[in-house]
Amino acid sequence: MIQELINIIGSKYVITASWRKNSYSKGWRYGNGEALAVLRPGSLIELWKILKVCLKADVIVIMQAANTGLTGGSTPNSNDYDRPIVIVNTLRIDDIQLINEGKQIIGFSGSSLYDLEKKLEPINREPHSIIGSTSIGASIVGGVCNNSGGSLVQRGPAFTELALYAKVNIDGELELTNELEINLGSNPEEILNNLQNKNYDKLDVINSNKSASDNKYSEIVRQVKSTTPARYNAD
Ligand SMILES: Cc1cc2nc3c(=O)[nH]c(=O)nc-3n(C[C@H](O)[C@H](O)[C@H](O)COP(=O)(O)OP(=O)(O)OC[C@H]3O[C@@H](n4cnc5c(N)ncnc54)[C@H](O)[C@@H]3O)c2cc1C
Repeated sequence: MIQELINIIGSKYVITASWRKNSYSKGWRYGNGEALAVLRPGSLIELWKILKVCLKADVIVIMQAANTGLTGGSTPNSNDYDRPIVIVNTLRIDDIQLINEGKQIIGFSGSSLYDLEKKLEPINREPHSIIGSTSIGASIVGGVCNNSGGSLVQRGPAFTELALYAKVNIDGELELTNELEINLGSNPEEILNNLQNKNYDKLDVINSNKSASDNKYSEIVRQVKSTTPARYNAD
């Protein structure tokens, strides 16, 4: 498996030495455990290809961006797993594409809130989340996964119904689902290459009513008598 991974992303980005794995396999607050390797793919297509290899080898995959999550979810959390673990760190896949004249953005898996702030400054806009860890490189996607933010009542926690993601289907095969509402093609390689190279135009962007932020949060958070929580961390 390791050799196949090296063939795809290069030996520099397949980390197996324990001293080099340490900063990826240990969480900021807690979470610590053994990983067979840390993989650092440089593009969406590389990410897709290494996931296929990991699936074939039947290893556990833990996705990770900046590893600032405080929940233990970004790293292994013991050495008591039934299969070896591979950590896939996405920080090299960090492109941010502005669409709809900057009203919306597509944040690649490792893109950071810090870079988003810089990218939006010239058009007088701000990222959805400005959080304590923006300055230490927290990612946009890690924020959506962790439901980060929350203290900003007008904006609420990071949230989106628009995403491009891979999943293992009922037949045990890797499947790519395009819910970005952008026409990018039909097969996974075509979709990933078109997105990576920004090979789409405004006619491909579907005018969808799916939401890319939690625009009901300011109402929900005020429902103090509600029987359900306003926000789930790491939901
Ligand atoms: C000093 C400090 C200050 C902080 N301040 C705040 C704050 O003000 N507000 C707040 O809400 N939080 C805060 N946090 C918590 C943390 O920074 C946020 O949750 C942040 O959004 C996590 O982003 P990350 O890129 O580090 O994600 P990671 O920690 O790398 O990942 C978070 C989770 O997302 C999953 N994940 C990451 N990428 C993918 C992917 N591509 N596909 C599937 N799953 C994925 C991981 O498995 C993990 O479970 C702070 C943390 C620190 C250390």
